[in-house]
Amino acid sequence: MSQVYLIGAGPGDPELMTLKAARALRSADVVLVDELVNRGCLAHARSDARIIEVGKRGGCKSTPQVFIEKLLIQYSRAGKTVARLKGGDPFVFGRGGEEMQALMEAGIEVEVIPGITAGIGVPAALGIPVTHRELARGVTFVTGHTKNGAEPDWEALARSGTTLVIYMGLRRLQEICLALQKGGLSGKTPACIIENGTLKTQRQLVSTLGELSAAGFAGPAIVVVGNVVRFARVAANVPKARAA
Ligand code: SAH
Repeated sequence: MSQVYLIGAGPGDPELMTLKAARALRSADVVLVDELVNRGCLAHARSDARIIEVGKRGGCKSTPQVFIEKLLIQYSRAGKTVARLKGGDPFVFGRGGEEMQALMEAGIEVEVIPGITAGIGVPAALGIPVTHRELARGVTFVTGHTKNGAEPDWEALARSGTTLVIYMGLRRLQEICLALQKGGLSGKTPACIIENGTLKTQRQLVSTLGELSAAGFAGPAIVVVGNVVRFARVAANVPKARAA
């Protein structure tokens, strides 16, 4: 049996992948890659590597998790070096934990290679210091995607004094913004949506909690709520010709 790497590809821009991730990719016979991963990351894979796309986008046609786990086990048992390439960090809202468990239960060794999660890399690239000492006591990562009604306690989060970084928050944005205000956050609290962060296709809306709207965004996007959003360098996105 051979090595399986569970790799974080970083938030988007292939240059934000780690050296360790690139080295592991180069060693792989088989690469199972998520839809969210930028294809530029595959430049590090060998030309003879077998690349298998396993789409997993909320609401869209996706490869069942069990099937992905089966493939990982099957290729590993066939003696292949397997790279499982996931967006951001493999363990942050990415079901990497489940994949690792399935492999361990099958007696297969897994090496986890961390990646820059979107919630860290995307705001940073826009100049937002998520834990600026004077403005935030910490940062909280939450998902806005609810399953079986399990939902973050938005009102408690509103009182946490931390910057909120919401993954998969577009679909329920309105409810989330209202719940945060109900919990005591002012409608004037700076808030933004960043779509396709760190990629050439990046778009963002910097606004306030009371006025933020997901209209026109398709995702993937993260929502950042808190006073640190004031630092967002929106001008960086304005084409030079227009800024002059
Ligand atoms: N494991 C990933 C997250 C997977 S969940 C990570 O650590 O980043 C997928 C969600 O991540 C998306 O719905 C979106 O909320 C966020 N996301 C991933 N890439 C993004 C990007 N380039 N820009 C904005 N949000 C992104």
